[in-house]
Amino acid sequence: MLEIYNSLTRLKETFKPLHEGHVGMYVCGPTVYGDAHLGHARPAITFDLLYRYLQYLGYKVRYVRNITDVGHLEHDADEGEDKIAKKARLEQLEPMEVVQFYTNRYHRDMAALNVLPPSIEPHASGHIIEQIAFVQKILDRGYAYVSNGSVYMDVEKYAKDYPYGKLSGRNLNDIVTETRELDGQDEKKHSYDFALWKKAAPEHIMHWPSPWSEGFPGWHMECSTMGTKYLGEQFDIHGGGLDLIFPHHEAEIAQSCAALGHETVHYWMHNNMITIAGKKMGKSYNNFITLEQFFKGDHPLLSKPFGPMVIRFFILQAHYRSTVDFSSEALEAAEKGLQRMQEAYARLQKIQPAGETSATLGGSIAALRQRCQEAMDDDLNTPFVIAALFDSTRAINTVFDGKGTISEADLKELKDVWQTFAIDILGLRLEEQGGDAGKQKAFNGAIDLLLGIRLQAKQNKDWATSDKIRNELTALGFQIKDTKDGFEWSI
Ligand code: ZN
Repeated sequence: MLEIYNSLTRLKETFKPLHEGHVGMYVCGPTVYGDAHLGHARPAITFDLLYRYLQYLGYKVRYVRNITDVGHLEHDADEGEDKIAKKARLEQLEPMEVVQFYTNRYHRDMAALNVLPPSIEPHASGHIIEQIAFVQKILDRGYAYVSNGSVYMDVEKYAKDYPYGKLSGRNLNDIVTETRELDGQDEKKHSYDFALWKKAAPEHIMHWPSPWSEGFPGWHMECSTMGTKYLGEQFDIHGGGLDLIFPHHEAEIAQSCAALGHETVHYWMHNNMITIAGKKMGKSYNNFITLEQFFKGDHPLLSKPFGPMVIRFFILQAHYRSTVDFSSEALEAAEKGLQRMQEAYARLQKIQPAGETSATLGGSIAALRQRCQEAMDDDLNTPFVIAALFDSTRAINTVFDGKGTISEADLKELKDVWQTFAIDILGLRLEEQGGDAGKQKAFNGAIDLLLGIRLQAKQNKDWATSDKIRNELTALGFQIKDTKDGFEWSI
């Protein structure tokens, strides 16, 4: 039995991958029946950070993040109908049309957040055959039973041989009292038995043939199946949100032990949740804000639009194991912090080396890389990395303001640390001051300025300058029209 770790404290010294130089990492991805919200952004950014950092440490990482597209029954789903199927039925779409639509939008939002795509992004619907085979293995080893065309995990039998509840620290009694009355209770031996395969009800339009019924796999089955298919029967890291520990990850452990006789995951890692004004996010609280609404400022709880980098910075300012409470004020503060970093980064690109580094600055530059590295090694302590980078802005500003000097070697080191930790590992886009709207404004201003110079040149009968500006802008695709009051331009 593998030992379960739930953090990567002293990562560089204590993390031991199963195969030297390689890391296999599986993260529970989105269920694609709606737009991504802050709750999707946090695990995506947390494990993107880990993916980037492991690569920085020199590992070759295979990162698998799944797409849950079979839909799964949720406690509060209307009559237990599959959510994707329901949406497809209401909107008269092919279920895979709904899946593709939301998958595309998820990819768009993740790209905006600068979340790198995983190495493999398997769909649950593309792995039905493997899931059936996995269920069959559990049946063959005697830890599941068939009832009315569905297959259930025999939790009581399993718990006699393996420690069920190990990850979440629950025992069977806790689980009995927590389990609500769900669809299919009368088919099960015990309320805590969970479905490995479900016979499809007539209204359920996504279903597949199996030895037991026309139906669909239980939700937990896809991650056990796809994790082991792409990363092996044992792999290094499995991640997801804290809310997935029970029942989802506990069920995954049980399925793996029941089918294979051993656990698959070496390190479990969970990011904490985001609350909104102290409350859990949810449709019933009317505080469900999609990422697109954040980017557009299109929600009553938002004072203004917030760019994707502000969201990323806001999430990284907290340690991934702490809760984060969202409010418009907190995002405005994060936006100011990000702007300070962007200003320092822009100044860092402009400052020139000269002579020796001033005595007051040398120490902080020399220690910066180690501070950042130690913080990342300490269970991905991003708030400390950000604090170290902020501390180094004093040196940047001192040199920029001409109140100190920096040597060529120190400037190179400072630039490299910022590039490595702020850009490559934290994944912040610091070159984009002001976001798209700001860029557009700056662009329009620059063209107006050029055409203003041309107008002045014309008034001074400096035809050479005036023609040069007009001809070169025209060659770049601009259309310039002289008007009574000056000029108009378009592209
Ligand atoms: Zn999962």
